[in-house]
Amino acid sequence: MKSHTEYLKIKTKDRIEFINITEQVEKVVEKSKIKEGIVLVNPMHITASVYINDAESGLIEDYKEWLHKLVPDKDYKHNLTGEDNAFSHLMRTIMGRETVIAVTKGKLDFGTWEQIYYAEFDGQRQKRVLVKVLGE
Ligand code: ZN
Repeated sequence: MKSHTEYLKIKTKDRIEFINITEQVEKVVEKSKIKEGIVLVNPMHITASVYINDAESGLIEDYKEWLHKLVPDKDYKHNLTGEDNAFSHLMRTIMGRETVIAVTKGKLDFGTWEQIYYAEFDGQRQKRVLVKVLGE
């Protein structure tokens, strides 16, 4: 089995921001020369998520609205440590940590409309995303 690992660098303009990273992951898979296998994609941070869904701007806004309803502004215990990002940790848990995509004939083997998103919940600083391709 071969493996190929890269780290994408991401710095968002906004504290909460969703970025389509599909092309960047595709490039890593191409570079790996792996034809059959899987690719794991996950943020190296506990306040961001990687997920797969539609690249539709209305849906992105719906996610943000829905997350703010699920994680309302309040005095969270985590923030008693001097942090102010309890909401970021909670949103990350809701949206999940990582995603795995099949690689078939050297390409990401997506379902219809599937795209890979990086969801940032505590941005405006340098973050990393692991992309690990495994296979033959
Ligand atoms: Zn924190």
